[in-house]
Order: sequence, then structure tokens, then C-alpha cells
Amino acid sequence: SDLGTAHIGVTGLAVMGRNLARNFARHGYTVAVHNRTFARTQSLVAEHAADGTFVAAESMADFVAALERPRKVVIMVKAGPATDAVIDELVPLLEPGDIVVDAGNAHFPDTVRREAALRALGLHFVGTGVSGGEEGALNGPSIMPGGTRESYASLGPILEAISAKVDGEPCCTYVGPGGAGHFVKMVHNGIEYADMQLIAEAYDLLRHGLGASAGEIGEVFAAWNTGDLESFLIEITADVLQHVDAATGRPFVDVVADAAEQKGTGRWTVQNALDLGVPITGIAEATFARALSGSAPQRAAARGVLPADTVAWHVPEPGAFIEDVRLALYASKVVAYSQGFDQIAAASAQFGWDIDRGAMARIWRGGCIIRARFLDRITQAYARDPELPLLLADPYFSGAVGNGVAAWRRVVAAAATHGVPTPAFSSSLAYYDGVRAERLPANLIQAQRDFFGAHTYRRVDREGVFHTEWSGDR
Ligand code: NAP
Repeated sequence: SDLGTAHIGVTGLAVMGRNLARNFARHGYTVAVHNRTFARTQSLVAEHAADGTFVAAESMADFVAALERPRKVVIMVKAGPATDAVIDELVPLLEPGDIVVDAGNAHFPDTVRREAALRALGLHFVGTGVSGGEEGALNGPSIMPGGTRESYASLGPILEAISAKVDGEPCCTYVGPGGAGHFVKMVHNGIEYADMQLIAEAYDLLRHGLGASAGEIGEVFAAWNTGDLESFLIEITADVLQHVDAATGRPFVDVVADAAEQKGTGRWTVQNALDLGVPITGIAEATFARALSGSAPQRAAARGVLPADTVAWHVPEPGAFIEDVRLALYASKVVAYSQGFDQIAAASAQFGWDIDRGAMARIWRGGCIIRARFLDRITQAYARDPELPLLLADPYFSGAVGNGVAAWRRVVAAAATHGVPTPAFSSSLAYYDGVRAERLPANLIQAQRDFFGAHTYRRVDREGVFHTEWSGDR
């Protein structure tokens, strides 16, 4: 058992683990493979021998024995109790210095807990975000590893080798200690929610404002994909909108039920933002918009009952309107990303993770769902100022958003006038006006708090904390 030669091991060989193992093999690594149900391991090795060298292990002990030291074990099982079960089985077989990588979609507090437990045993625990789904796992995902820097020295090059590449740079870098990797993956998913909701609102505006068909709107998105909005999500939106349902001959999106589902990462992102006190209104509205779409009893009770009091929408200049919607979409998107990066900064400060935000934008340029050229602009903004307090206020972004702010107001006003719900567009504009305000009405909130709860207030003209004796005023 001292003769293990496999460079890396993967345990958990469902779609993701299987493809990750094949990706390692294709890059010349000898991969030990293991799965609770051995049949999966056997089928991988039987079907994909052409990818490279696999060592199939039936037991966890054989799997561990097949690995060179320090051992590097990637766990790719169902997130939650299964991950703990695998760790519990694995740990007694390992030795100090070995590296355990959880590549599943763990909730970051679980990663914090597991990392501390394994560190106490002298093991490295690397909670890593892996984005890009099945396809990415096989051909190059975006990889967000946390844990110790020491573990990254030997593990990093292997992960970088299998990651997506943009301009020759790997979409993988060391994120930070503890749960930092899974945290960043979580915020990535939250941003993905916001991006998707903003695109859906743009589609809805074009649908209502222009009475355009799905196919026609698809053409608008295809044109948008040649400019600042160029991204994977805009590109697939153009394709999806132009897709025709084979069964009915109707536009595909017109036969899809309008109730969005979610697996929970958006919710985690919003829950954490509430804990940190960071306003991520774009992500929150996107998460709630999915919830509203799925609120069948409430929608049934409201439909046809709540008055709209709107007039028919006639857009006089379709070209100008399309350009307004494009500018509003871009501005709202910048707000959503700015808020997401604020959340990363806040968590990084709170947990002592020292996360390089520009590097996160860089490793999201390829492999993952939010991949886009736009992310280069974010990397450049943090290169100009690594401590940038607000992405939106970076000279490039303040210019780009400022350029579209009149259009943004026209779009949000038209949506309100005509009863088209645009929670992400509207709340992003409200955030923009809030964060740039000279003076917010929070003065009144503070006065109220002092009145009913003696919570005290600060003054604009003097240092210190004050309380007013309000009883005489009543
Ligand atoms: P999955 O359906 O989430 O999980 C199935 C795998 O987990 C199988 O290998 C299964 O083994 C194993 N497993 C379940 N319970 C176990 C236990 N108690 N002990 C040991 N093994 C157990 O697989 P997946 O879709 O490939 O996803 C794997 C991970 O990647 C998940 O954490 C997922 O959230 C994450 N992820 C998925 C995607 C995606 O697009 N699918 C993208 C990013 C991240 P058996 O074969 O023995 O049942």
C-alpha cells in the first residue's frame, strides 16, 4: 500500500465526478476512481479507457492505497450528509498532509466546519466551487478552491490544468482559507440568478412594449450579444427564444409553464447577505421573483381580480425602445455584480479570507454560466484599485451606467405605467439612486427610533451620540 501511483483520486462518479475524472485523465493524470456503488466505477473505466489511465477501486481502502503521497482525493457526491459520510470513511485511511477536496455544492458553513475538523487532524480540506455543470466538468470548468495556501501549491497546478482557459489563463485560482471557495461559488450562483432575471425582464418588456414574437426578441438578443452584453447567458437566450417546439410548431418558450424552480443557492446567497447586512437587491429580487412565479394559489387569487388601471402600450419608436431596454439591462447588471462583489468583500472581512475580487472576476470569464467579456472590466477595475469600495463607482462603470441612466429611468417608468413587473430593473435603479444620494431619509428613521425606543442618533453638526427627551413633545 506504499506503492500508490495515482496522481489524484475521485470518489463519487455520477455525472459530475465521472466527467471530472475523465478531464483529469485527459490531461495525463493517473486517476484512481471510486464510487459507493462499484458498478458506476466499472462502467466509467470500461467506457472511457481512451481518456487516459484509471485505477478502479472497489473499496475505499483500495482507493486510498492507489494514491501517491501526499494523497489528493476529490469528493464529488451529493452535497450534505453524503459528503460527511464519505469524509468519515476516508479520514481514518489518510495521513497528515493529505488533501481532501470537496468539489460538490456544499453550503459554505459546512465547509468551514469540515475544514476546521480536518485541520485538527493534520489534513488539508479544500472546499472548492466547481461551475459549468456536466459539460464544464468534462471540458473545463471554472474552479474556486479554498483551504490552505499550502495545499494549493501541489493541488493548484492539477486543478488549473483541467480548468477552462481564457486568453491562455486558467479559470482557477486560490480563493482563500476555510469556506472561501464555496462562498464565492455561492455568490457566483446568486449573480447568475440576477443575470437570468434581468434577461427575463428585458424579454418581458420587449414582448409587452413591442408585441414582438419570441423569435423576433431572440434576434434582438443575438444582436445584443455582439456588444457590451456579450455573454453565455445572452447567447443562449437568443437561441432559446428562436427555438420552435417540435410538438406544436409554436415558439418553445410559449409552451413552457411560467413557474421557475430553484435548488437553493440563490436563497443561501440572500440569507447570508441578510446576516452580513449587505444590500444585494438584484439577487434578492431575482430569488423572490422565482418564488412569486411559483406561488400558484396567490397568483390564481390575484389574476383577473386586482385592477391594473393601465392603458394599451404603444411604443412609437421600436428601435429607440430596444436601445433603452439594452441600456437598462446593462446598468441593472452592473448593479447586481457590484452588490455581489460587495458581499464577497464583506464576508472576506468578516471571516478574514482576504479574497482578491479582481481574481474572482478573472476565473469566472470561462467555464461557468455567467462567463462574459464584461468580467474583464471588473478585473481591470480592481486592478486600478484593489480596495475599491463600490464597483459601480469605478470610473469605467460609473461612466457606462451614467451613459444609460436616462434610458433606465424611461424603461422603469414605462414598466410601472403599463403594469409590467420589473423587480430587478426597478430595484437596481432604486439602489443606484439610494447609494448615490446626497441625503437619504434615514434621518427620519433615526428620529423615530430615538422617539419610541431611546435608540439615540448622531447629528450632522456635532460629534457624539444624542438622545432627546421626547415625553414633553406629546
Ligand atoms: P448527485 O446526484 O448529486 O450525487 C450522486 C453521487 O453521490 C453518486 O456517486 C452517489 O453514489 C453518491 N452518494 C450519494 N449518497 C452517498 C453516500 N451516503 N455515501 C457515498 N456516496 C453517496 O451527483 P452529481 O449530479 O454528479 O453532483 C455531484 C456534486 O456536484 C453535487 O454536490 C452537486 O451539487 C455538485 N454539482 C453539480 C452540478 C451539476 O450540473 N450536476 C454542477 C455543479 C456542482 P451511488 O452511485 O452509490 O448512489
